[in-house]
Amino acid sequence: MRKQIVAGNWKMNNDLAETEMFLVDLKKQVIPEKVEVMIAPSFTNLNHAFKSLREHPVEVIAQNMHQSQNGAFTGEVSAAMLKSVGVNTVILGHSERREYFNEDNATLAEKVNTAHDNEMRVIFCVGESLEDRKNGNYFKFVEKQLSEGLFHVSEETWKDIVIAYEPIWAIGTGETASPEQVQEMHQYIRKTIAENYSQQIAQEVSILYGGSVKPDNAKEIFGQPDVDGGLIGGASLKVNSFMEIINSFQ
Ligand code: PEP
Repeated sequence: MRKQIVAGNWKMNNDLAETEMFLVDLKKQVIPEKVEVMIAPSFTNLNHAFKSLREHPVEVIAQNMHQSQNGAFTGEVSAAMLKSVGVNTVILGHSERREYFNEDNATLAEKVNTAHDNEMRVIFCVGESLEDRKNGNYFKFVEKQLSEGLFHVSEETWKDIVIAYEPIWAIGTGETASPEQVQEMHQYIRKTIAENYSQQIAQEVSILYGGSVKPDNAKEIFGQPDVDGGLIGGASLKVNSFMEIINSFQ
Protein backbone atom coordinates (compact mmCIF):
# COMPACT_ATOMS: atom_id res chain seq x y z
CA MET A 1 0.00 0.00 0.00
CA ARG A 2 1.36 3.40 -1.01
CA LYS A 3 1.41 6.00 1.73
CA GLN A 4 -0.14 9.43 1.33
CA ILE A 5 2.44 11.96 2.45
CA VAL A 6 2.58 15.72 2.83
CA ALA A 7 6.00 17.12 3.76
CA GLY A 8 6.67 20.78 4.46
CA ASN A 9 10.08 22.04 3.39
CA TRP A 10 10.70 25.23 5.34
CA LYS A 11 14.00 25.98 3.57
CA MET A 12 15.89 28.83 5.36
CA ASN A 13 12.79 30.20 7.07
CA ASN A 14 11.48 30.33 10.65
CA ASP A 15 13.78 31.09 13.57
CA LEU A 16 13.23 29.49 16.98
CA ALA A 17 10.39 31.81 18.05
CA GLU A 18 8.61 31.41 14.70
CA THR A 19 9.07 27.65 14.83
CA GLU A 20 7.58 27.59 18.32
CA MET A 21 4.57 29.64 17.20
CA PHE A 22 3.99 27.26 14.30
CA LEU A 23 4.22 24.21 16.55
CA VAL A 24 1.80 25.59 19.13
CA ASP A 25 -0.74 26.17 16.37
CA LEU A 26 -0.02 22.84 14.63
CA LYS A 27 -0.64 20.89 17.82
CA LYS A 28 -4.19 22.26 17.96
CA GLN A 29 -4.98 20.70 14.57
CA VAL A 30 -6.38 17.26 13.82
CA ILE A 31 -4.05 15.37 11.51
CA PRO A 32 -5.97 12.86 9.35
CA GLU A 33 -4.86 9.35 10.25
CA LYS A 34 -4.40 8.25 6.64
CA VAL A 35 -1.86 11.00 5.84
CA GLU A 36 1.77 10.98 6.93
CA VAL A 37 2.70 14.57 7.69
CA MET A 38 6.27 15.84 8.02
CA ILE A 39 7.93 19.20 8.55
CA ALA A 40 11.54 20.05 7.72
CA PRO A 41 12.71 22.99 9.85
CA SER A 42 16.27 24.33 9.73
CA PHE A 43 18.98 22.29 11.46
CA THR A 44 19.00 24.67 14.44
CA ASN A 45 15.34 23.97 15.22
CA LEU A 46 15.19 20.23 14.61
CA ASN A 47 15.67 19.12 18.18
CA HIS A 48 13.26 21.68 19.56
CA ALA A 49 10.62 20.61 17.02
CA PHE A 50 11.25 16.93 17.70
CA LYS A 51 10.82 17.35 21.45
CA SER A 52 7.74 19.51 20.98
CA LEU A 53 6.11 16.92 18.66
CA ARG A 54 7.12 13.82 20.61
CA GLU A 55 3.51 12.84 21.35
CA HIS A 56 2.22 14.10 18.01
CA PRO A 57 1.84 12.29 14.67
CA VAL A 58 3.79 14.90 12.66
CA GLU A 59 7.35 13.76 11.92
CA VAL A 60 10.30 16.14 12.01
CA ILE A 61 12.67 15.62 9.09
CA ALA A 62 15.86 17.27 7.77
CA GLN A 63 16.39 19.24 4.58
CA ASN A 64 19.86 17.86 3.87
CA MET A 65 22.87 16.07 5.36
CA HIS A 66 26.49 15.38 4.45
CA GLN A 67 27.54 12.15 2.78
CA SER A 68 30.43 11.41 5.18
CA GLN A 69 29.88 9.77 8.53
CA ASN A 70 31.95 12.44 10.30
CA GLY A 71 35.18 14.41 9.90
CA ALA A 72 36.66 17.72 8.79
CA PHE A 73 33.69 19.20 6.93
CA THR A 74 33.18 22.61 8.50
CA GLY A 75 29.56 23.68 8.58
CA GLU A 76 28.13 20.29 7.68
CA VAL A 77 25.78 17.94 9.54
CA SER A 78 26.00 14.15 9.53
CA ALA A 79 23.36 11.43 9.52
CA ALA A 80 24.37 10.35 13.03
CA MET A 81 23.90 13.92 14.28
CA LEU A 82 20.42 14.03 12.79
CA LYS A 83 19.52 10.71 14.33
CA SER A 84 20.82 11.86 17.71
CA VAL A 85 18.25 14.69 17.73
CA GLY A 86 15.35 12.46 16.70
CA VAL A 87 15.42 12.80 12.90
CA ASN A 88 14.93 9.64 10.85
CA THR A 89 14.07 11.06 7.43
CA VAL A 90 16.05 13.39 5.17
CA ILE A 91 15.28 15.26 1.96
CA LEU A 92 18.09 14.69 -0.56
CA GLY A 93 18.71 16.28 -3.95
CA HIS A 94 16.41 19.27 -3.65
CA SER A 95 16.94 21.42 -6.75
CA GLU A 96 18.22 24.30 -4.60
CA ARG A 97 20.92 21.99 -3.21
CA ARG A 98 21.76 20.84 -6.71
CA GLU A 99 21.86 24.37 -8.14
CA TYR A 100 23.39 26.53 -5.37
CA PHE A 101 25.55 23.94 -3.61
CA ASN A 102 26.72 21.94 -6.62
CA GLU A 103 25.25 18.64 -5.52
CA ASP A 104 25.54 16.30 -8.47
CA ASN A 105 24.08 12.85 -9.00
CA ALA A 106 27.28 11.12 -7.81
CA THR A 107 27.29 13.04 -4.52
CA LEU A 108 23.63 12.28 -4.06
CA ALA A 109 24.26 8.58 -4.64
CA GLU A 110 26.76 8.74 -1.75
CA LYS A 111 24.25 10.58 0.44
CA VAL A 112 21.62 7.96 -0.28
CA ASN A 113 24.09 5.25 0.81
CA THR A 114 24.94 7.12 3.99
CA ALA A 115 21.26 7.54 4.82
CA HIS A 116 20.73 3.82 4.29
CA ASP A 117 23.76 2.91 6.42
CA ASN A 118 22.21 5.00 9.19
CA GLU A 119 18.74 3.49 8.75
CA MET A 120 17.23 6.73 7.57
CA ARG A 121 14.38 7.24 5.17
CA VAL A 122 15.06 9.42 2.12
CA ILE A 123 12.85 11.80 0.16
CA PHE A 124 14.78 11.87 -3.11
CA CYS A 125 14.04 14.91 -5.30
CA VAL A 126 14.19 14.97 -9.07
CA GLY A 127 12.97 17.48 -11.62
CA GLU A 128 13.89 19.23 -14.83
CA SER A 129 14.69 22.86 -15.64
CA LEU A 130 12.49 25.04 -17.82
CA GLU A 131 14.97 24.57 -20.64
CA ASP A 132 14.67 20.78 -20.46
CA ARG A 133 10.89 21.06 -20.27
CA LYS A 134 10.83 23.30 -23.35
CA ASN A 135 13.19 21.22 -25.46
CA GLY A 136 11.28 18.04 -24.66
CA ASN A 137 14.18 16.47 -22.77
CA TYR A 138 12.40 16.16 -19.42
CA PHE A 139 11.87 12.41 -19.29
CA LYS A 140 15.52 11.74 -20.13
CA PHE A 141 16.69 14.31 -17.60
CA VAL A 142 14.69 12.82 -14.75
CA GLU A 143 15.66 9.28 -15.74
CA LYS A 144 19.35 10.27 -15.54
CA GLN A 145 18.86 11.77 -12.08
CA LEU A 146 17.21 8.55 -10.95
CA SER A 147 19.66 6.16 -12.55
CA GLU A 148 22.79 8.01 -11.39
CA GLY A 149 21.58 9.03 -7.95
CA LEU A 150 19.26 6.28 -6.80
CA PHE A 151 19.13 3.17 -8.94
CA HIS A 152 22.24 1.64 -7.37
CA VAL A 153 20.30 0.83 -4.19
CA SER A 154 19.17 -2.70 -3.37
CA GLU A 155 15.56 -3.79 -3.69
CA GLU A 156 15.33 -3.97 0.07
CA THR A 157 16.28 -0.27 0.41
CA TRP A 158 13.17 0.87 -1.47
CA LYS A 159 10.99 0.56 1.61
CA ASP A 160 12.87 3.63 2.89
CA ILE A 161 12.64 5.69 -0.30
CA VAL A 162 10.07 8.33 -1.24
CA ILE A 163 10.44 10.22 -4.51
CA ALA A 164 9.54 13.87 -4.98
CA TYR A 165 9.08 15.13 -8.52
CA GLU A 166 9.72 18.86 -8.44
CA PRO A 167 10.05 20.60 -11.81
CA ILE A 168 12.47 23.46 -11.15
CA TRP A 169 10.35 25.88 -13.17
CA ALA A 170 7.46 25.39 -10.75
CA ILE A 171 9.32 25.78 -7.44
CA GLY A 172 8.60 29.05 -5.67
CA THR A 173 7.46 30.60 -8.94
CA GLY A 174 3.71 30.35 -8.48
CA GLU A 175 3.66 28.37 -11.72
CA THR A 176 2.35 24.85 -11.12
CA ALA A 177 2.73 21.97 -13.51
CA SER A 178 -0.71 21.02 -14.81
CA PRO A 179 -2.29 17.91 -13.26
CA GLU A 180 -1.74 16.17 -16.63
CA GLN A 181 1.95 17.10 -16.71
CA VAL A 182 2.34 15.88 -13.12
CA GLN A 183 0.55 12.60 -13.77
CA GLU A 184 2.53 11.99 -16.96
CA MET A 185 5.86 12.35 -15.14
CA HIS A 186 4.80 10.36 -12.08
CA GLN A 187 3.61 7.53 -14.30
CA TYR A 188 6.91 7.66 -16.17
CA ILE A 189 8.90 7.53 -12.92
CA ARG A 190 6.89 4.52 -11.76
CA LYS A 191 7.41 2.77 -15.10
CA THR A 192 11.17 3.46 -14.93
CA ILE A 193 11.34 1.98 -11.42
CA ALA A 194 9.41 -1.09 -12.61
CA GLU A 195 11.87 -1.56 -15.49
CA ASN A 196 14.90 -1.24 -13.22
CA TYR A 197 13.51 -3.14 -10.23
CA SER A 198 10.06 -4.66 -10.20
CA GLN A 199 6.40 -3.85 -10.70
CA GLN A 200 5.85 -4.43 -6.99
CA ILE A 201 8.47 -1.88 -5.91
CA ALA A 202 7.13 0.62 -8.44
CA GLN A 203 3.60 0.21 -7.13
CA GLU A 204 4.63 0.53 -3.50
CA VAL A 205 6.83 3.63 -3.66
CA SER A 206 5.21 6.96 -2.79
CA ILE A 207 5.82 9.68 -5.37
CA LEU A 208 5.16 13.24 -4.23
CA TYR A 209 4.74 16.33 -6.36
CA GLY A 210 6.38 19.63 -5.41
CA GLY A 211 6.18 23.02 -7.07
CA SER A 212 3.84 25.81 -5.98
CA VAL A 213 1.29 23.45 -4.41
CA LYS A 214 -1.32 25.62 -2.69
CA PRO A 215 -4.68 24.97 -0.99
CA ASP A 216 -6.50 25.77 -4.24
CA ASN A 217 -4.63 23.32 -6.49
CA ALA A 218 -3.70 20.51 -4.09
CA LYS A 219 -6.94 18.54 -4.50
CA GLU A 220 -6.64 18.22 -8.26
CA ILE A 221 -2.94 17.34 -8.13
CA PHE A 222 -3.36 14.80 -5.30
CA GLY A 223 -6.28 13.30 -7.20
CA GLN A 224 -4.01 12.07 -10.01
CA PRO A 225 -3.60 8.28 -9.94
CA ASP A 226 0.20 8.26 -9.57
CA VAL A 227 0.46 11.17 -7.14
CA ASP A 228 0.77 10.19 -3.47
CA GLY A 229 1.06 13.63 -1.94
CA GLY A 230 3.26 16.69 -1.96
CA LEU A 231 6.51 18.31 -0.94
CA ILE A 232 5.40 21.80 -0.02
CA GLY A 233 7.60 24.90 0.25
CA GLY A 234 5.96 28.32 0.69
CA ALA A 235 2.51 27.06 1.64
CA SER A 236 3.93 24.93 4.47
CA LEU A 237 5.07 27.99 6.42
CA LYS A 238 1.59 28.85 7.65
CA VAL A 239 -0.40 26.26 9.59
CA ASN A 240 -3.68 27.21 7.87
CA SER A 241 -2.50 26.68 4.31
CA PHE A 242 -0.47 23.61 5.28
CA MET A 243 -3.53 22.03 6.93
CA GLU A 244 -5.73 22.82 3.94
CA ILE A 245 -3.24 20.99 1.73
CA ILE A 246 -3.07 18.04 4.16
CA ASN A 247 -6.87 17.83 4.03
CA SER A 248 -6.95 17.84 0.22
CA PHE A 249 -6.83 14.07 -0.26
CA GLN A 250 -10.14 12.68 -1.49
C1 PEP B 1 10.01 23.09 -2.47
O1 PEP B 1 10.81 23.86 -2.00
O2 PEP B 1 10.24 21.87 -2.39
C2 PEP B 1 8.81 23.61 -3.10
C3 PEP B 1 8.04 22.80 -3.78
O3 PEP B 1 8.55 24.96 -2.94
P1 PEP B 1 7.18 25.74 -3.32
O4 PEP B 1 6.04 24.91 -2.81
O5 PEP B 1 7.30 27.06 -2.61
O6 PEP B 1 7.15 25.87 -4.81
